[in-house]
Amino acid sequence: TGTGSQKDRVVTEEEWLRKWEVGNIGFHKEEGHPLLRKYLDVLLNGRSGLRIFFPLCGKAVEMKWLADMGHSVVGVEVSEQALKEFFAEHSLPYCEEPVPEISGAKKLRSTSGNISLYCCSIYDLSSSIVGKFDGVWDRGALVAVNPCDRQRYVSLMITLMEKNSSYLLVTVSYDSNKHKGPPFYVPESEIKSLFG
Ligand code: SAH
Repeated sequence: TGTGSQKDRVVTEEEWLRKWEVGNIGFHKEEGHPLLRKYLDVLLNGRSGLRIFFPLCGKAVEMKWLADMGHSVVGVEVSEQALKEFFAEHSLPYCEEPVPEISGAKKLRSTSGNISLYCCSIYDLSSSIVGKFDGVWDRGALVAVNPCDRQRYVSLMITLMEKNSSYLLVTVSYDSNKHKGPPFYVPESEIKSLFG
């Protein structure tokens, strides 16, 4: 499977939910990402009390890490199971709230109030619902977006960014003829054209 054939490949929402159900979540890491540690200063840029967005968040432990530093974290994820596991694994009490603007969606919010996780598709969000962010941690997100949706994803992300926000993006450089994932190959040239 080269980059050519990857372009038309699609991972459906149902397939993602199924991955969570059967525990096929090799992408989840128990340890905080070393690149977030390394580039934390770039993300924060000396600022405190930021709003940080985690697109396609899964149960990323970095959400807890940034919240503990005093930032407020917003994530979005289609799998409710993932979000519940996040709160359970960190022993964080939370409550469930409806999201009137999005049918079928709900928000799981830590009782302490600084972690709000939307259970819906990212494409249902807009800045009028979630506001704008000072920072974005995109790990396993752009690379998990179906290639046909990349432009839409990036355009949306740009509308969710405050003027002086920082966007940390993790991608993986590999020979897409030899490796199938994770789950899609996004060459650097495409990142440049997508984000401009
Ligand atoms: N960023 C996380 C998870 C990466 S895997 C981490 O670093 O561990 C990608 C995640 O995106 C999966 O949990 C999947 O369920 C979720 N997902 C896929 N499509 C989505 C969409 N359209 N909207 C929201 N979440 C989505």
